[in-house]
Amino acid sequence: MRQGILEIFLESDMAVSQQHIEATLTKQFERVDRITVYRTLKTFEQKGIIHKAIDGTHTPKYALCTDNCSEHAHHDAHAHFHCDDCGKTFCIEEVSPPKVNAPKGFVVKSTHLVMNGRCDNCQD
Ligand SMILES: [Zn+2]
Ligand SMILES: [Zn+2]
Ligand SMILES: [Zn+2]
Repeated sequence: MRQGILEIFLESDMAVSQQHIEATLTKQFERVDRITVYRTLKTFEQKGIIHKAIDGTHTPKYALCTDNCSEHAHHDAHAHFHCDDCGKTFCIEEVSPPKVNAPKGFVVKSTHLVMNGRCDNCQD
């Protein structure tokens, strides 16, 4: 099951939702336990294998990390692009979120940069 989930990430060039993973696994395995999928995603995230791709939608999506990430240490702060036409979310690794100064008394833990519009597959 874990291997199957990992393969979905390796084969995908976009961020995937848990729903997409479950649907894909259903074609391979007879029974897909949602809790197992959820737990595996959490474990992968903790181990620095995948990260949450914040895309401004209500559906959490995950994408494969770069080699820079290790257990409990993600170093892949980058922008994410959400396509309004096909609904896919992509990692934009060459764009980093800007350093922002929070007002006095606020402590910034993370900053997310989300772009939306039309992806290159949807241009024509
Ligand atoms: Zn990461
Ligand atoms: Zn698109
Ligand atoms: Zn990403």
